[in-house]
Amino acid sequence: MAAGTGWEVDVLAIAAHRDDVEQTCGGTLLRMAARNLRTGILDLTQGESGTRGSAAERASEASAAAEILGVTYRQALDLPDGAVANTLENRLKIARVLRELRPRVVILPYWEARHPDHATCSILGYEACFLAGLSRLSGHGVEALAPYRPFKIVYASLYADVRPSFIVDITPFIEQRHAALMAYQSQYADQAQGGGLFVPEDEIRERTFAEARHYGLLAGVRYGEPFVQREVGLVDDLTLIPVQSI
Ligand SMILES: [Zn+2]
Repeated sequence: MAAGTGWEVDVLAIAAHRDDVEQTCGGTLLRMAARNLRTGILDLTQGESGTRGSAAERASEASAAAEILGVTYRQALDLPDGAVANTLENRLKIARVLRELRPRVVILPYWEARHPDHATCSILGYEACFLAGLSRLSGHGVEALAPYRPFKIVYASLYADVRPSFIVDITPFIEQRHAALMAYQSQYADQAQGGGLFVPEDEIRERTFAEARHYGLLAGVRYGEPFVQREVGLVDDLTLIPVQSI
């Protein structure tokens, strides 16, 4: 699935590595697709520094996962894996995609993270969203496209030790989300290479389902994915606010 015109999406998830989105907001993308929204994924790197699998293998796994997640767009930029940097050049590369896709909502990783690529992706993605709206912008082909700024940015916070602003109920999609993650056979299938570093397939299932169950419980549903938003919420009708208090 390559970039081009006519790929406009409603929700775009931007992440540092192929398979990040599958772990942090894959269920949410499935839920949005089930609501007939157009969803997309922009991975910043191609995975050339991974212990297991080549970048080419990860490319075909990523497109298999995209199919399972029902996204209409997926592309990987060429930022160096393990050395994602917040540079003007990289902001422009992302801004170009934002102008092509014109997403209403952008999902970014939470800004504090153990992996430096995840934390940098958060800031870089935010600044690219800002930049994409500036009319006098040039470089990497952005000047040929109309200025555009997403309406909403939310942060996928699964890996962060932070209280989420809200949970998306992914209960009907948990198995499909797991299948999308397991499409990365070079990373997650049981195998000898890198065995000390990687957890067995059964344990991945147990861990990811337990995390989803934990966040689901916070909102009174079975399985959930957590998000942080910087803005306050706005309520129209107090009687329709979800999640029981007592
Ligand atoms: Zn990652």
